[in-house]
Amino acid sequence: MTSLEKIVRLTNQCKYDQIGDEGTVFEDIDLSKIDALGQGTKHDICTSSSTTRVVNENNVLGDVNRSGICHSFTANGRCVSMFKTLFTNYCTHDCKYCQNSTTYKGTKNIYSYTPEELAKITISLYKGNYIEGLFLSSGVSSDEDLTTEKMIETLRILRDRYKFAGYIHFKILPGVSYEYIKQASEIADRLSVNIETPSNNYLSELSSTKNYVSDLLRRQNYIKKLESKKGLPAGQTTQLVVGACGESDLDIFKRVLKEYKEMMLKRVYYSVFNPVTMTALEEMLGQPTWREHRLYQIDWLYRVYKFSENEVKIAFDENGFLNNKDPKLNIALNSLDKPIDPNDASYEELLRVPGIGPKSAYRIVNYRKKNNIHKREQLLNLGVGVKKATPFLKINGGEYTKIDRWIECKNQ
Ligand code: SF4
Repeated sequence: MTSLEKIVRLTNQCKYDQIGDEGTVFEDIDLSKIDALGQGTKHDICTSSSTTRVVNENNVLGDVNRSGICHSFTANGRCVSMFKTLFTNYCTHDCKYCQNSTTYKGTKNIYSYTPEELAKITISLYKGNYIEGLFLSSGVSSDEDLTTEKMIETLRILRDRYKFAGYIHFKILPGVSYEYIKQASEIADRLSVNIETPSNNYLSELSSTKNYVSDLLRRQNYIKKLESKKGLPAGQTTQLVVGACGESDLDIFKRVLKEYKEMMLKRVYYSVFNPVTMTALEEMLGQPTWREHRLYQIDWLYRVYKFSENEVKIAFDENGFLNNKDPKLNIALNSLDKPIDPNDASYEELLRVPGIGPKSAYRIVNYRKKNNIHKREQLLNLGVGVKKATPFLKINGGEYTKIDRWIECKNQ
């Protein structure tokens, strides 16, 4: 039994499924539909944080790879749990990595919700305290506008009939018309278009039915314009599948720069490629999870730490790939040529030292207004990761900074 199915059963047992006067929700819904449409979002990770931890067991807590409930951060930084589902797993596209694709070689049941059904399930899970929001994606029928219309209808029932004010992440399907994007932008908190690859050339290796510019980038542009005119509470995001078509990490990063600078995206999500049985890419080797993790770190250095593009590019090797080391450490080893004195370094200089983040850099700048920093313990109390930071710092005239430490660090 999947985690999602358990949740639904539990919800049912607990009688939390009373929606106003309308009775129970689940008695007439096939649980395998809920399960299949939850599982169908597997390739659509969109996790807000990443981890190299791999969980191979059932019945454990904290597995970030399961479908059903996922987490995201709202505009004010609060983490919310969301019911993540497809509206339908019927799709006319042929993305080679996806189990909903026309190229899928297995047999599968096709399911679709009605807007009524999906709204009721969402509210039921909400009232059961399992979720605070909805992440709604979908396979795409031959008429993407029609699928989107039904998805929007679900949102309207949630907002208007059930007065649901919770968080909604709404997936914009490839090629959908401006009018529907506009409607979705008026109801949802966040919109996203999955660009999947860094360019049209790469996309054409994975799908013959989607056009990168007209189906994806143009839709992103529509969202950008709508957001600038009327706002969108949690902005626009996207997702890339990492390593399904031989692209390098630098190819990805270059596209990501455009996404942030030209499309004004709030976040980019990375989903490392893992072959799914019976898809066209089932024989292809999966990519290591750390690749996704390192891309998230690079993204963080650029977006949050405000490292320049050129600084970040130091972390990539000559073939454009990251290695499985902390990219901030790689950048520091290749760009810092002398130890940093925490007593007089600027906030920006401190931020470039491994083990020092925005909060600890800020604390150091404040603390040293009245104190001299001469011991590692002082830095420890300010939240610095001293083990990582010490080789790069000049403390007490350089007592702790030794070139052999630096070399030791370089070889880690
Ligand atoms: S558009 Fe592609 S990735 Fe999305 S559901 Fe269809 S086949 Fe899967």
